[in-house]
Amino acid sequence: MDTQTCDKARQSFIDAGALLSKIYNFPQTITVAAEFADLCTTLGGCTTDRTIVGAAAPSRFFSMTGEDGAVRIYPQILTKFANPTSAVPFDTHDIIASFNSKLAPYFFFSGDTDITPKQVDFVGVVAHEFHHGLGFLSSWRPSGVDNVVTPLIHVDGSNKLRVRETIFDQFIIRTADGKPLTEFTAKFEQAIDGQTYTTDAALASTIEMVATDNLITTATDYITPNAIGFLPKGKTNIIDAVILETALNPFAVGSTGSHVDFTTYSNSPDWLMVYNVIQGKTFQQIDQDNGAATPDTIVGPNIKAIMESMGLPTPDNPNPFVPTIVNEEPISNEN
Ligand SMILES: [Zn+2]
Repeated sequence: MDTQTCDKARQSFIDAGALLSKIYNFPQTITVAAEFADLCTTLGGCTTDRTIVGAAAPSRFFSMTGEDGAVRIYPQILTKFANPTSAVPFDTHDIIASFNSKLAPYFFFSGDTDITPKQVDFVGVVAHEFHHGLGFLSSWRPSGVDNVVTPLIHVDGSNKLRVRETIFDQFIIRTADGKPLTEFTAKFEQAIDGQTYTTDAALASTIEMVATDNLITTATDYITPNAIGFLPKGKTNIIDAVILETALNPFAVGSTGSHVDFTTYSNSPDWLMVYNVIQGKTFQQIDQDNGAATPDTIVGPNIKAIMESMGLPTPDNPNPFVPTIVNEEPISNEN
């Protein structure tokens, strides 16, 4: 990528950061490692009608005890915000982000004029990926056992199994009955957490048993539109749930469950966190067309409520609950 493009990309990062700083009170600087790479080669999954634009995640997750007493994994940056002087092994960077170099001609960078119909505003792409790095991501995914989904099941350095959901997962519900998925996580934890890992087959058999005994939400829910939602902190009515993306079939790891529902929100002020990019419009044009509060309010009210629920401070919620660090090996980003 040439220097001029790199400079414009860098400016888009600065602009995206400035937009998010209007919404969130970041207590300290966030360090991002960003690269342009051929993501179709490194991550795979590109098809004729689907190309990966970007990918980002926290560099590391750390275990902390939340308001309800449960231990969950938090992205490095939320861990730092809560425990700025902690001695836990923080990574040099808080967020690791990659953007698809193959799409460089299709990115509309800060300073460019006249967006073309196929271009995507890179400021929006960066702001979207920053949210994943700040913790907008679920750990629920297919387990390998037929029709069973689980939160993260991790084998640590001592060969012990650990069951941990992300802080995002604390607020996920099944919309049919309002059942919080964190209750299912607790069942998996009781049966599996702390056990010594032996074989995949033994683990699968335990997962299957727990799922059957507890009528755990199924992989089918994750490929059924409107079946899974995020009920923001303080809300109790299912109707207040932010619908998560569960319309993709098969389950698309990275997209399913870790975005707001495309059909519900792509034409709303919460467009930023749908899984698909919006082409041919600058973020200001999308904001205007979608009824955002102002043309540079890139974060809609539902996305803001999700981030506040996870403990990111905002002017409306300046003093969120502070979770406590648990002495557990951090989990590194697998990507
Ligand atoms: Zn995304």
